[in-house]
Amino acid sequence: MDIVTGEQRSRMMSGIRGKNTGPEMAVRKTAHALGLRFRIHRKDLPGSPDLVFPGRNTIAFVHGCYWHRHAGCRYCYTPKSNVEFWTKKFKNNVARDERVREELEQRGWRVVTLWECETANKDGLRQRLKGIFKS
Ligand SMILES: [Zn+2]
Repeated sequence: MDIVTGEQRSRMMSGIRGKNTGPEMAVRKTAHALGLRFRIHRKDLPGSPDLVFPGRNTIAFVHGCYWHRHAGCRYCYTPKSNVEFWTKKFKNNVARDERVREELEQRGWRVVTLWECETANKDGLRQRLKGIFKS
């Protein structure tokens, strides 16, 4: 049985690199409320990162738990049919994420991943961002 709603599914199916998704907007809103300065979707950087905080030398990706395989997360399930196809696809996604992270780190950026499930709770997200940017 599926554990996600139709709405969640359509959002997840809308694409691995969906832009301006609900979770991403939640992160932007919270970062803004915390007074953090950031740029979005810098195309000149590998992976076109969701949020770039130049003053903090930090890049944040907002990743969907399903497509990017959030280990141990309840949204990170594998469909029952076409298992081989999905397993391969997921493996490629994770490999690409790792490659992008390495490239950015080589350029001197600190790279953090914010998972979709971490963005659902406003206070939790606020604390998470505070933790990342405490100086
Ligand atoms: Zn998750």
